[in-house]
Amino acid sequence: MINRKSQAQIEKIGRAGVIVGGCLQMMKVMCRPGVTTAELDQAAEKFIREHGGIPTFKGYRGFPASICASPNTMVVHGIPGDYLVAEGDIMSLDVGVTLKGWVADAALTVEVGDAGKLAKRLMEVTEASLARAVAKCRVGNRLGDVSHAVQEYVEANGFAVVRSLVGHGIGREMHEEPQIPNYGNPGTGPELKEGMVFAIEPMVNAGTHKVIVGDDHWAISTADGSLSAHYEHTVAITASGPRILTAAGTEEQKGLDAAPLLW
Ligand code: MG
Repeated sequence: MINRKSQAQIEKIGRAGVIVGGCLQMMKVMCRPGVTTAELDQAAEKFIREHGGIPTFKGYRGFPASICASPNTMVVHGIPGDYLVAEGDIMSLDVGVTLKGWVADAALTVEVGDAGKLAKRLMEVTEASLARAVAKCRVGNRLGDVSHAVQEYVEANGFAVVRSLVGHGIGREMHEEPQIPNYGNPGTGPELKEGMVFAIEPMVNAGTHKVIVGDDHWAISTADGSLSAHYEHTVAITASGPRILTAAGTEEQKGLDAAPLLW
């Protein structure tokens, strides 16, 4: 069952979302050659706690950090550590915040210096696919419309959507129903209703859609070593249309068999 939130509850998720957005913005600025992903993580945790929030990821199923930092061929769920950010990297940064019992979750991909044409196009297409999915978050549409919006745009641009990881409902818990694949058929799935809140997160690979799990049992990387990009917003479905609750952090406003990997 997809539970629906009241307007007051959506406001609470939105307040967590402001911290998420601010944290991502801070990390985007900080993500420069010479910084380690552990330093990004420490700064993020400090930022979240200073704003009264709790880093949702920390301790989630044993995850040891407040953010996921996933460079280049890594898709998602990178554990921050001694990885040294370098010129030409693209880095997926993903963060969740719990504030007074309500959760918001978002991610973006940062280009460090000049990562080249392919990386830029991959990032642009992935971010635009998220915008297209958000635009489908309207009362009366179907969940498949959201999924299809990502797939259609990504594949038309010659890239592949990761299939074994999905977006999710969000609210009291980081992961609520429904699962939101980044592929699917329009006009199928549950009907979208006012008060549903979704974390939509296209994960897009330059090569194959297939992914592998790292030795740490967390990091997910492309199976063929191709680049991957990732963007995510927490979005509420309102009577007047989609409302992005984690927008503050992004300048540019613009499977399922692997359920344990759900993030
Ligand atoms: Mg998520």
